Amino acid sequence: MQGTILILDGVSTNRIMLKVQLSAAYYHVVQSDGMDGLLALVRRTEPDLILTAMSLPDGTAVDVRRSLQQDENLRNIPIIAIASQNDKGARLGALKAGIDDVLIQPLDDLILQARIRSLLRARSSNEEFHLREETSTALGFAEPVSGFTPAARVALLTHDAATGALWRARLKNTVRHQLTSHQMADIHALMSDPVPDAFVVDLTGTSPDRGLRLLADLRARSKTRNAAIIAVVPSSTPALVADALDRGAHDVLQSGFCAEELSLRLTAQLHRKARSDRLRDSVRDGLKAAVRDPMTGLYNRRYALPQLSAISRDAAQSGKSFAVMLADLDFFKQINDEFGHPIGDAVLTETAKRLAAQLQPGDMIARIGGEEFLIVLQDTDQQTATQAARELCREINSRPFQCPGLACPIDVTISIGVVISPTTGYGIDPSVDQNAATLIGQADRALYNAKGSGRNKVSLVRTAA
Ligand code: GH3
Ligand code: MG
Ligand code: MG
Repeated sequence: MQGTILILDGVSTNRIMLKVQLSAAYYHVVQSDGMDGLLALVRRTEPDLILTAMSLPDGTAVDVRRSLQQDENLRNIPIIAIASQNDKGARLGALKAGIDDVLIQPLDDLILQARIRSLLRARSSNEEFHLREETSTALGFAEPVSGFTPAARVALLTHDAATGALWRARLKNTVRHQLTSHQMADIHALMSDPVPDAFVVDLTGTSPDRGLRLLADLRARSKTRNAAIIAVVPSSTPALVADALDRGAHDVLQSGFCAEELSLRLTAQLHRKARSDRLRDSVRDGLKAAVRDPMTGLYNRRYALPQLSAISRDAAQSGKSFAVMLADLDFFKQINDEFGHPIGDAVLTETAKRLAAQLQPGDMIARIGGEEFLIVLQDTDQQTATQAARELCREINSRPFQCPGLACPIDVTISIGVVISPTTGYGIDPSVDQNAATLIGQADRALYNAKGSGRNKVSLVRTAA
């Protein structure tokens, strides 16, 4: 099934016709003749889109939008209204109220299907984000999304400069956005930062092919992929409307350029864009937070252990060896006892900073325990790794730690256990996870030896490589 569509219409023959048409396109269809019991029906059937007559026996399409507005979970269900006549005032009123589109009877099947596909596409990508956002919010990573839409940069892309200038002049008093106009042949400049938040693409010329290609191109490029795209299509060209939507336009002006209508559609699309931008950012932040230790900013244990397995797997393929180190602060409990836990935290943070600063790109450092760090150096041998570990020790012991609120700096030392991964034929379990665990176990034993032989030392497990 492609999704669930709710049909609202007081006239049963209209409902039946739509149902036949949509079922043939593999949508699951539910229906009702009006507003009565609407919220309960929507909550129960969870439609992905609502197709409603502009006027119902007990309300209007705008009333449908308003009643869904009360419920946060239903607020973003797209709504297409179907009007019995082309009344511009009513259409603009509906768009203003948050209806996604208004189609006119008799319905053009091409346009209807393309419009539904386009709205469902936008919804499903947002839903995916939404799900992930819920997860990260639950984990305490993300702020909930608010309804604020910033002023935007809008680029008008037309065939000729005269049309661009005309559109701009008409829009200037209607929208508060920053407008620029460009000829289609000349859009390279738009690809450098900051890219526009929205593109309005002119398909009213005699050969719309270029504009159609441009639509697809804007949606494909990473720089412009997330911009809002609105196409302007001449009246009575249903195939072109459908084509524009299928190529990736988020919205279409179906009767040529109209400043007022474009302004309303821009607002709706920029809202949608701002919402998905925020979702995308919070998902990104959430993912980042999930693998980091908040105190030191280093990777956490959850990230580091699978990562070590991955490094181990790569190394097995490339035949290169890598070093695994466990570093543990010496007498850290005493630092806590003497100066207090907050100073202990400051020492940990400074230790993390000093160690991380010594590493090369491709190396990994993680805080895998309270005062224990895992360090992996890629493509290295025994001698280089031992040398690097000694330098790490020196980074800690050579400069006493200056801590906030403490007059005297603190002397801190660290002990490090080092093991070099076997290249081939070393008698351990061939499974990489096992290999990673074995290496950590060996590094831990080396660390134990370093502690036993006086601390502030590097100890190495010699392997038969
Ligand atoms: P050793 O030289 O043998 O490693 O001695 P140690 O005192 O460092 O070792 P031990 O494992 O006995 O103590 C580690 C201490 O680290 C115990 C714990 O209270 C402290 N610790 C663990 N996590 C944190 C943290 O996040 N902040 C602070 N301030 N202390 C921590
Ligand atoms: Mg310890
Ligand atoms: Mg310790």
